[in-house]
Amino acid sequence: MTAPLPGRVAVAVETPRHTSVSGLLDYASEQPLAPGTLVRVPLGKRDVPGLVWERGAETEAPPEVLRPVTVALTALPPLGPDWRALVAFAAAYYQRGLGELALAVLPPELRKLDDTQLARRLKKLAAAPPSPAAPQPPARPELSEEQAAALAVLATPEGRAKPVLLHGVTGSGKTEVYLRAAADALARGQQALVLVPEINLTPQLEARFAERFPGRVLVSLHSALTPAQRLRHWLQAHLGQADLVLGTRLAVFASMPRLGLIVVDEEHDPSFKQQEGARYSARDLAVWRAHHAGVPVLLGSATPSLESWQRVQEGRYRRLPMLQRIGGGAMPRVRLVDMNLLPRGTQERVLAPQLLEAIEKRIAAGEQSLLLLNRRGYAPVLHCGACAWKSGCPHCSAWRVFHKLDRTLKCHHCGYSERVPRACPECGNLDIAPIGRGTEKLQEQLAALLPQARVARLDADTTRAAGSLQQQLAEVHAGEVDVLVGTQMLAKGHDFRRVTLVAAINADGGLFSSDFRAPERLFALLMQAAGRAGRDAEQAARSEMWVQTWSPTHPLFTALRKHDYDSFAAAQLEERQAAGLPPFAHLALLRAEARTAEAATGFLHDAAALIDSAAAGVTVYPPVPPFVAKLADVERMQMLLESPSRAALQRTLAAWLPQLNGLRGAHKGLLRWAVDIDPLAI
Ligand code: ADP
Ligand code: ZN
Ligand code: ZN
Repeated sequence: MTAPLPGRVAVAVETPRHTSVSGLLDYASEQPLAPGTLVRVPLGKRDVPGLVWERGAETEAPPEVLRPVTVALTALPPLGPDWRALVAFAAAYYQRGLGELALAVLPPELRKLDDTQLARRLKKLAAAPPSPAAPQPPARPELSEEQAAALAVLATPEGRAKPVLLHGVTGSGKTEVYLRAAADALARGQQALVLVPEINLTPQLEARFAERFPGRVLVSLHSALTPAQRLRHWLQAHLGQADLVLGTRLAVFASMPRLGLIVVDEEHDPSFKQQEGARYSARDLAVWRAHHAGVPVLLGSATPSLESWQRVQEGRYRRLPMLQRIGGGAMPRVRLVDMNLLPRGTQERVLAPQLLEAIEKRIAAGEQSLLLLNRRGYAPVLHCGACAWKSGCPHCSAWRVFHKLDRTLKCHHCGYSERVPRACPECGNLDIAPIGRGTEKLQEQLAALLPQARVARLDADTTRAAGSLQQQLAEVHAGEVDVLVGTQMLAKGHDFRRVTLVAAINADGGLFSSDFRAPERLFALLMQAAGRAGRDAEQAARSEMWVQTWSPTHPLFTALRKHDYDSFAAAQLEERQAAGLPPFAHLALLRAEARTAEAATGFLHDAAALIDSAAAGVTVYPPVPPFVAKLADVERMQMLLESPSRAALQRTLAAWLPQLNGLRGAHKGLLRWAVDIDPLAI
């Protein structure tokens, strides 16, 4: 680093890394501006937001040609060195522009304010009345042996030196461990950051933290906040006023000057991976951030990601097991229904007779059942028996889903929606029929099969309106529902006390998918679903998890029956190692979108030709279409890069990606390209 010349500042601006302007730009400023100061600077004919940054070693323009910084938001304390290090690491690792990423992870409201407005906001925050006299926090529960053991490890510096994987079955009391660990951080005068996968889960967790830490300032950060709320919460964290920050993946970038602990709950959850722009993994960044800041990080899960599990095997993470449910309740008994054994002609029925009977028993006993089906709508496709017409989406390579309630055919990929035609649009045949079933149909069939029961449905369609999810959950908790049908949304987190039966109606999709992570996700989902049953210890003995399958001897189900994550993980890791897949290899996916599949493929071929694969130590696979190749009239192709060495892959990407825009001209119809590092779905 060279010493900054007086009157000169380096600024990270919002230009993507692989366009012509990259890196830092120099500007003139009369007042010295500390790194981390938010500014506005001229760029071409526009004024753009930027962040003052440390100067790298790049050549400097002579001061007289520099344009001056337009505005400096000096009222805001500069973003600190730890925050800047995190952003710089993430930008480099995920191959994005520094300024692009830095500004994308700040609250959007921030850039709308001028210095005076900002100063006013900050003054208001500083003057906020002190929190009311703290009510007595509730008595803390006596720790279970496993909780105490985990906390004892976390209490020592050696115990916290490595990332900790809290491997705790559902109901083992992981949250209590988070609460105690947070209490320790707070007692040290530090802030705690708690990440959860779903916005829907934040209110429950927020309530538990708020109850435990009355008088402390707790803020949430997620995309459902209003822009003004998000700014206020972000500022409270940045100013060090908030003691606890609870949020979804974007909260990993919260500026927290007194950070003392990071918790990642349900660390295996795919929602921690951002699926657009800088496709970062908040879980992975949390681990990096904690390590960089020298603070403990706690990853919690009943079914850890195989990445984290492998790191435990390698001794890089420390596993703390919590395998007993609080209160000693057993895990529900797993019952597999072999669909092959059902009498012919009944196989197409929704539920095996024995499952239906089991549900009826629960209803009679005043207990609840949860039925999972991972497909919303009434039926995934409509079909004409006369001419073989199917309800395809004209804009995507996908079927449009039949929604019976509002009589529409909806594309779940691009949103294109039409009223259901009365007759086949091809041949006029009046007899067009749904094929397969979604949650809507399952609910309808159950209502017919169980006329005495209150059957409700919970999925993305029934929870669209604000507050409707909370409302529906409240009804379930109040016992106003006997049978609840829903998508995987149901499996996550909710603490249902009256549920003694959970059933996966059609689990087989994940067994034979082309995505190598599908079994891992299915196993996690089924374990998590099983965890919904029998949360009350006295009911646990009667609780059951049913799985309808055509492949009952599949090893995944054998492990599920025994609630045996360890052997499932061992078998999966063995397969992954043999196949050279993560976590034993590192992947990057180059995606191209174009008007035609040829243009996308041509671009990827030319891009591949730029890599000397043998020298780089990186395997480049041929371009293939993703699962939905055409989406909203755009053709998509993707190309996988794989290397046993993360460093080799990173080096290759860093040298390669800047060259790709030079290829654009040769491929008319290419719309955009993007790279996904450590992709979750391939
Ligand atoms: P997990 O997050 O591991 O699924 P929770 O933290 O939600 O489990 O704990 C399950 C239930 O047990 C909660 O209702 C919680 O309040 C309760 N609980 C947790 N720890 C204890 C304890 N040590 N003693 C009594 N109850 C506890
Ligand atoms: Zn037809
Ligand atoms: Zn579509």
